[in-house]
Amino acid sequence: MGPILDTLIVGAGQAGLATSYWLSRAGVEHQLLERRETLGGAWQDRWDAFCLNTPNFSLALPGMPYDGPPRKHSCCGMTS
Ligand SMILES: Cc1cc2nc3c(=O)[nH]c(=O)nc-3n(C[C@H](O)[C@H](O)[C@H](O)COP(=O)(O)OP(=O)(O)OC[C@H]3O[C@@H](n4cnc5c(N)ncnc54)[C@H](O)[C@@H]3O)c2cc1C
Repeated sequence: MGPILDTLIVGAGQAGLATSYWLSRAGVEHQLLERRETLGGAWQDRWDAFCLNTPNFSLALPGMPYDGPPRKHSCCGMTS
């Protein structure tokens, strides 16, 4: 029988990556499963020309703070 794992995260999108970050910080052993070959979740299924419609300040992930201009949208060039 293999090692017992208490915590398993299914999906390495925004939620899975954030959860994995905080579990790592807390020293909780876990595994993160992703069916794709790349991380990042649903965004990879969108149209090539599709861009974020939320302002840049909301883009931060745990451990990856956003450090660009706060009031612009990253690829649409709009201001909030
Ligand atoms: C058209 C559209 C526009 C959007 N625009 C914005 C926006 O402008 N700004 C914004 O902040 N949000 C936007 N969102 C929302 C954003 O995409 C989601 O909030 C975000 O992707 C949710 O992250 P998640 O980790 O919960 O899910 P997902 O990103 O869907 O990640 C889930 C992951 O789980 C994996 N998975 C699923 N089942 C299994 C399995 N059985 N085994 C292994 N892996 C599995 C999938 O492959 C995927 O990688 C938009 C969404 C859509 C549909």
